[in-house]
Amino acid sequence: MANPAIITVDDDPAVSRAVARDVRRRYGDRYRVVRADSGPAAMEALREIKLRGEQVAVMLADYRMPQMNGIQFLETAMDLFPTARRVLLTAYADTDAAIDAINIVDVDHYLLKPWNPPEEKLYPVMDGLLDAWLSTPASAEGDVRVVGHRWSAPSYKVRDFLARNLVPYRWVLADEPEGERLLSAAGLGPDAVPVVITPDGRSLATPAVGELAAHIGLSTTPASDFYDLVVVGAGPAGLGAAVYGASEGLRTVLIEQRATGGQAGQSSRIENYLGFPDGVSGAQLTERARRQALKFGAELITTCEAIGLAGGGSASRVLRVSDDSVIAAHTVVLATGVSYRKLSAPGLAELTGRGVFYGSAATEAPNCAGSEVYIVGGANSAGQAAVYFSRYARRVHMLIRGADLRQSMSQYLVEQIEAIDTIEVHPCTEVISGEGEDHLERLVLADASTGEKRTVRTSWLFVFIGAEPRTDWLSGVVQRDERGFVLTGADLLADGRRPVGWTLPRDPYHLESSMPGVFAAGDVRATSVKRVASAVGEGAMAVSLVHRYLEAQ
Ligand SMILES: Cc1cc2nc3c(=O)[nH]c(=O)nc-3n(C[C@H](O)[C@H](O)[C@H](O)COP(=O)(O)OP(=O)(O)OC[C@H]3O[C@@H](n4cnc5c(N)ncnc54)[C@H](O)[C@@H]3O)c2cc1C
Repeated sequence: MANPAIITVDDDPAVSRAVARDVRRRYGDRYRVVRADSGPAAMEALREIKLRGEQVAVMLADYRMPQMNGIQFLETAMDLFPTARRVLLTAYADTDAAIDAINIVDVDHYLLKPWNPPEEKLYPVMDGLLDAWLSTPASAEGDVRVVGHRWSAPSYKVRDFLARNLVPYRWVLADEPEGERLLSAAGLGPDAVPVVITPDGRSLATPAVGELAAHIGLSTTPASDFYDLVVVGAGPAGLGAAVYGASEGLRTVLIEQRATGGQAGQSSRIENYLGFPDGVSGAQLTERARRQALKFGAELITTCEAIGLAGGGSASRVLRVSDDSVIAAHTVVLATGVSYRKLSAPGLAELTGRGVFYGSAATEAPNCAGSEVYIVGGANSAGQAAVYFSRYARRVHMLIRGADLRQSMSQYLVEQIEAIDTIEVHPCTEVISGEGEDHLERLVLADASTGEKRTVRTSWLFVFIGAEPRTDWLSGVVQRDERGFVLTGADLLADGRRPVGWTLPRDPYHLESSMPGVFAAGDVRATSVKRVASAVGEGAMAVSLVHRYLEAQ
């Protein structure tokens, strides 16, 4: 396997040579330095690297270039190598552009040219970026290949898991010559798919996500059996709690059943999060938060689902996790968010993962090219998905229960949708059934106001409805409202009386549940605001209450 690449792009030949020379001098033994003199030429080089299944660690691009400036290049390049670190090279006069770039493409650094001596001005920055890149799971993987069937729910599950954990992979169809060759080399037949082939040549047939996680460099078991704080769920609230907990010296472990980022990680563009006027993709926000939590010393455990919680005396709480082991801690933050409700229309359950998807399923977007795509839901998440899929699909149909999108969606998204000709909104419309042999082929829709039914041909249905908390495992342990959201603080006081079983001589703190020392933050909490910013804020606030709780112990 070739060394990972560092790509440098500058249209001035002398500068371009100098940049590549400085980079090669220090990193040439471990990284391959690829030099290009324009954005399009650099994109061409990146495509070749991608096709060869190789990695890119850092991209340095000059801001002022004809045809494609540095910001445009980095933005396009991110689609191919989302975890590569990004640096914009600017002259002093272009500082404003660099600041824009931070917002638009989330550059990691901008460097002013010239940078003599590189030992002071270039290498410390590059060292930091390479360390950051090396700590991403993606860097461990040169060329993960997934061999599977086009319409197979288990194959989709594997691809979705890799994509959400930002692990690049090559998708090979089992019935194509390359797929047949890989299966035969692995000594497996077509029934063994999905098969994941790791760069060291190991093949995993129909792997469970835990097994897969362990092979792609994600931690799946905690290093210790006792912590100050265990955070359950690595969405924005959990990541917020982990960053603040670890940075304030608490021994913190964050456990996540699936992939960091939660719902926010699925968002193609979050446009209302403070500090990102041009929006930020959920994947970028998640990746940054994940690195930040790790930098402060939080442990992050994936494919680990909390399945039970018990009080272990006044000083500890005990969490039981999916492999039946336990993690004990002084305190717990529940940040398990919500997940989409399933549509109950006949036929859809059998076709889930084979044309019917819950959430944005970004991995499928390129496969929707030229197709008719149906999206159910009228909230912001559905709106974002419609805008995103409209880049690929021939037409996107939004099926909403209400008469108008404005009843349920932010104004900025309604305006974006109205401006896209290929998105069609179908008010008062619901899905009656789904039909198809090995994948979704038809949907029967009904107009709720007239009762009129019609059948449409499509292979793609994405559902974004009725988010609900998955807190059954907390039944009888902490008090929840009738929909399963965790009650906290003043919501636990009925007519001023403290919750049953509460023994402390004080009321529960604002985010504290009915079990002292167990807090809830983000979407899972009853009466919370369902937003990224509020989830992050509650994660941070929960940690300050954890401190207050520990001090009083
Ligand atoms: C597609 C989409 C787009 C959105 N766009 C925006 C936007 O533009 N702006 C905005 O403000 N908000 C947006 N939202 C809403 C926002 O993402 C949520 O409000 C936010 O993610 C809530 O964060 P959270 O941490 O509370 O929960 P979640 O993000 O739901 O994360 C919870 C995590 O907990 C994990 N988990 C659940 N149960 C367990 C368990 N038992 N054990 C271990 N782990 C568990 C889950 O796997 C998940 O990763 C969007 C949501 C979606 C789906």
